[in-house]
Amino acid sequence: MAYDTDNIFARILRGEIPAKTIYEDDHALAFHDINPQAPIHVLVIPKGPYVSMDDFTANAPDALVTGFFRAVGHVARQLDLAEGGYRILANHGPDSHQEVPHLHIHIFGGRRLGPMLLKPEG
Ligand code: 5GP
Repeated sequence: MAYDTDNIFARILRGEIPAKTIYEDDHALAFHDINPQAPIHVLVIPKGPYVSMDDFTANAPDALVTGFFRAVGHVARQLDLAEGGYRILANHGPDSHQEVPHLHIHIFGGRRLGPMLLKPEG
């Protein structure tokens, strides 16, 4: 899948639309999810044109991969989630229900998060 330079997170990275940014460095930007699913629900995105985890881990330079994952850990600590715990999640592709085609890692926390996945219906 080709990277869509007009996806919503590309536009946030370019500053074309606002986001509640909580952290930024050379490799990553972190901001609050617009529709939080937990008391804390933050998204961390790499500063580069990568559609998903699959694209990123196959094609991003080592420095960006390292810097991005360090930023995810840093943001969780910044949010005081390291002690109580948190969950990270990255959707890739249609089975996962990925909605925005720019890699993003969700960080959820602030309450007991329960079991990992919803059971299939029916
Ligand atoms: P996905 O389903 O792709 O893993 O998650 C996309 C996430 O992006 C959703 O949790 C959704 O609420 C969030 N989101 C979509 N549009 C925006 C936006 O314009 N701003 C912010 N901050 N979050 C967004």
